[in-house]
Amino acid sequence: MAPATVTDTHCPYCALQCAMRLTVDDTGVTVEPRDFPTNRGGLCQKGWTSAALLTAPDRITTPLIRNGAGELAPASWDEAYDLIVRTVATVQSESGSDAVAVFGGGGLTNEKAYALGKFARVALGTAMIDYNGRFCMSSAAAAGNRAFGLDRGLPFPLADLGDADAILLVGSNLAETMPPAVQHIAPVRERGGLIVIDPRRTPTAQLTEDGGGIHLQALPGTDIVVLLGLLHVVIAEAGVDEEYVAERVNGWEAVRRSAAQWWPEAVERATGVPASQIRSAARELIAASPARGGRGAYILTGRGAEQHAHGTDTVTAAINLALALGLPGRVGSGYGCVTGQGNGQGGREHGQKADQLPGYRKIDDPAARQHVASVWGVDVDAIPGPGVPAVELLSRLGEADGPRVLMVHGANPVVSAPDAAQVRRRMAALDLLVVCDFVPSETTQLADVVLPITQWAEEAGTMTSLEGRILRRHKAVEPPTGVRDELTILHDLAERLGSEAAFSVEPSEVMDELALASAGGVADYAGVSHDRLDDGPPLYWPCPTPEHEGTPRLFLDRFAHADGKAVMVDVRPTPVDDDLRADAPMYLITGRLLQHYQSGAQTRRVRALVKAQPHGFVQIHPVAAQRLGIEEGERVQVTSSRGTAVAPARLSDEVRPDTVFMPFHFGGDACANDVTNPATDPISGMPEFKVCAVSVSRLDPA
Ligand code: SF4
Repeated sequence: MAPATVTDTHCPYCALQCAMRLTVDDTGVTVEPRDFPTNRGGLCQKGWTSAALLTAPDRITTPLIRNGAGELAPASWDEAYDLIVRTVATVQSESGSDAVAVFGGGGLTNEKAYALGKFARVALGTAMIDYNGRFCMSSAAAAGNRAFGLDRGLPFPLADLGDADAILLVGSNLAETMPPAVQHIAPVRERGGLIVIDPRRTPTAQLTEDGGGIHLQALPGTDIVVLLGLLHVVIAEAGVDEEYVAERVNGWEAVRRSAAQWWPEAVERATGVPASQIRSAARELIAASPARGGRGAYILTGRGAEQHAHGTDTVTAAINLALALGLPGRVGSGYGCVTGQGNGQGGREHGQKADQLPGYRKIDDPAARQHVASVWGVDVDAIPGPGVPAVELLSRLGEADGPRVLMVHGANPVVSAPDAAQVRRRMAALDLLVVCDFVPSETTQLADVVLPITQWAEEAGTMTSLEGRILRRHKAVEPPTGVRDELTILHDLAERLGSEAAFSVEPSEVMDELALASAGGVADYAGVSHDRLDDGPPLYWPCPTPEHEGTPRLFLDRFAHADGKAVMVDVRPTPVDDDLRADAPMYLITGRLLQHYQSGAQTRRVRALVKAQPHGFVQIHPVAAQRLGIEEGERVQVTSSRGTAVAPARLSDEVRPDTVFMPFHFGGDACANDVTNPATDPISGMPEFKVCAVSVSRLDPA
């Protein structure tokens, strides 16, 4: 029997990046949690069962090329590379560089995200790159940049939360999506200071029951009104930290005037939240604020607030409230976004976003372009300008002036994009769809070429957690014969494409290059290296030199705008983009389940998780179900003007009677995103995942 090896690494799934230890012996891989400040020795069911991914029976271990019979058939790496390079050359010579597009993912390591952004710009010469993080936290990123001049999910350690007197969670269901994080809010709940805005009585909202706090169960799409109502009461009851606002904030007067109209009674009419609850919640926040001698308060947003066609404004309303209370940039208080994807934070910092270069630099900033070009060893003019956000990129696939080739890395957009059926149709119009993945997905099923890749425990790299803390991912097991890591794939393709820039296959070298490219940028990793992370603790960015200790807390002295002040923006409610009407009289809201992650491509093949949550469902209030003649378990169709999803009914009073909920982890008939709305936020490009008008009926009415 070979001796066991023990490797410390982090979970393959969400942004909490729980620390785990993998023990590998002849019997397989065993997962144990490690004590770490974010997970404090905890893992959720996904983390505990993550080793099952490494032995997935349908693992892809050879490149696949679609043959004349329309089937994906095994091929050699050379055959796959040759087909890709030949098609890219033909398409670009006929239709220009931007006829080739790249779609990345928020689960890629920092090194892969960096290499992918560089590959798109200098090996393919295309501006058409974006990633699925656009579907995740882009509204919070846009609002954070607008307010603070910088976006880092949590600009403070997660462990700070427990010291506060109050926490307002806006559309974040962390008790279900990242259960170990509940340890951080539990002390606040014990003090009765947990406030949750959510149209659903989620497990997180249920924490407010029995004296834990207040659940504001607003009508879908009206979070911004609730936030304006809270600000109104804060102003009316002299809860504004006037000294802080005068010293540290621009834009207050317009916001103050605008909030005047949002009396709690008006908020109640617009949202369904009782005026008394609005007042109680605001008083809780005021009492917790440092200006009133409280221990501190936090306001946190999640996807429920952000995944809207006006998500940036909703998050801005949350930030305005936090600034009025004097919370951001103070130890023990603040505003933050609870990022979702495993490397949602790092994924948006290193250049796979349409408008950004490494270091979170703007791609149209001449100085940033010059700096990055010098690191890449290319002429500055070789770096294309900004591309287009993900929804627009996907909507233009196969069109006359749109991309004809698409390369997908770490994503399953035919399940995860809004109006997913339309995305499937667009993909069918491509000359070539290339998908890198380690297991089959709904997107690999449409591919012309599938490239089999390594997965988390088979590769080294770094991830940046929701706190902006850079963590080491270590290799614990050898990958199966036949697969390659994406750094190697990008290197090989870049070489065949005749790229001027060199691409390393060694993750530590890529990190060193990333550190150089990010130096002086907002997300400055210049002081970060694999060796340093291996020898010491994880580092919070910015970390500009090898001697710098990193920055756990941002904004303590100044915000990142030139004058050091935060900016409030006067935001107003807008009607739901696809609102109720006679033939679509109910709202659909979508979200996540404890057992599944993103499009479910990984978790839907882990037996224990599938046993617990085998398929999608339609959660419907018993009163609505009775009105519609729907019984528990009956197949129900949910139809919008885009399409229909079909799944069994689950009767529950966790949803409002005017609303149904579907998890978005499932493809096929139960694909919730066949129904959702592709309308996008004009600032962030975030699609309207969270609310649309639908009709709901039994599949086969009696
Ligand atoms: Fe932790 Fe998230 Fe992994 Fe669960 S999925 S173990 S919460 S990192």
